[in-house]
Amino acid sequence: MNVVRKSLAGQRWEAVEVLDYKPSGSHFRHISRQVLFDRPGDIDAQLRYFAIEADGHSTLERHGHTHAVVVLSGRGRVLIGERIHSIAPFDLVTVPSGAWHQFRADQGLPLGFLCLVAADRDRPQRPGEEELSRLREIKEVSDFIVV
Ligand code: MN
Repeated sequence: MNVVRKSLAGQRWEAVEVLDYKPSGSHFRHISRQVLFDRPGDIDAQLRYFAIEADGHSTLERHGHTHAVVVLSGRGRVLIGERIHSIAPFDLVTVPSGAWHQFRADQGLPLGFLCLVAADRDRPQRPGEEELSRLREIKEVSDFIVV
């Protein structure tokens, strides 16, 4: 394993594959995933890089594990729990256990961010009809979410 893998043009890295965000689905749009570190040495975590193209979004989901996010490029907004936040480079975002969340890139600007997660983690859940209608009771959230 190379101890240094150089960055490449276009938010790529040596020896890092660009992967689909998730295997399939219509609940996300224009997003790719790169695993930069996968349980390196004694660190029981993964560090991923996500690129969301302009106007794309991640899945609306929640799970027991936590996300620690560092925005690297672009601009966007994120739903965490019941609030929408604007995000820009170098902002730090914590998605707590159990919080509904969705990342969206602004129109015309892609959004790139690092996301740290535990290597062993639970699977994301998407909202059911009941949870969706509860989320949609909050106008700001209703206007924001894409499912
Ligand atoms: Mn998540």
